[in-house]
Amino acid sequence: MILTGTSVRNSEESAKMARQYPGVLYATAGIHPHDAKSFDAQSISKLRKLLELKHVVSVGECGLDFDRDFSPRNKQEECYKAQLELAIEVQKPLFLHERSAFSSFMNITKDYLPKLPKAVVHCFTGTLQEAKTYLDNGFYLGFTGAISDAKRFSHLKEVIQYVPLDRMMIETDAPFMLPKNVPNSLLKKYQERRCEPAFLPYVAGTIAQFKGITLAKVAEETTRNSKSFFEI
Ligand SMILES: [Zn+2]
Repeated sequence: MILTGTSVRNSEESAKMARQYPGVLYATAGIHPHDAKSFDAQSISKLRKLLELKHVVSVGECGLDFDRDFSPRNKQEECYKAQLELAIEVQKPLFLHERSAFSSFMNITKDYLPKLPKAVVHCFTGTLQEAKTYLDNGFYLGFTGAISDAKRFSHLKEVIQYVPLDRMMIETDAPFMLPKNVPNSLLKKYQERRCEPAFLPYVAGTIAQFKGITLAKVAEETTRNSKSFFEI
């Protein structure tokens, strides 16, 4: 399991927690666009220090979020560029977040592309055309329980059918993005509406259904992708 860092403090906590469970937990180190307002002159050196640790496997999550705009857009861009440069320096894979910011995101990212390590656009909820652009630029796509939300994200069925299995990863985005197809009995056993790692098979199940393949095949391939991507 990979614990996502979303701010300097949260990345430090994630790294500390992961250290207690070697070979089971890993962490990322980065600043989420929502937290870009906390980005300062010391942020990058603190993230760099975390990324020296073997169990801190990825830079991010980082990127742009123009859906919520919890940080000013110019601050988000500054913070994102600094983390792209950090990923180039440390050569650890990038864990990217893009929400309602596709064109600005690609505009910034393309300047760094030739030197970038491998990258995954996590919790993908964009259009098929956006998915194609990401794939054409060599990115992986991460899918969450959002794919089973036929009301809000029905277009993702077509996206899942298009994206090859070898460029796909699955994730919880816990505590968010609870899959719609988790049975009520299981929800009661946990914390009702909170997404849990235990629900990941329901993300795999939706992909299997959309692609007309077995759940075992989805599990096997996406596990292999994640292990090789994060080198764990
Ligand atoms: Zn995210």
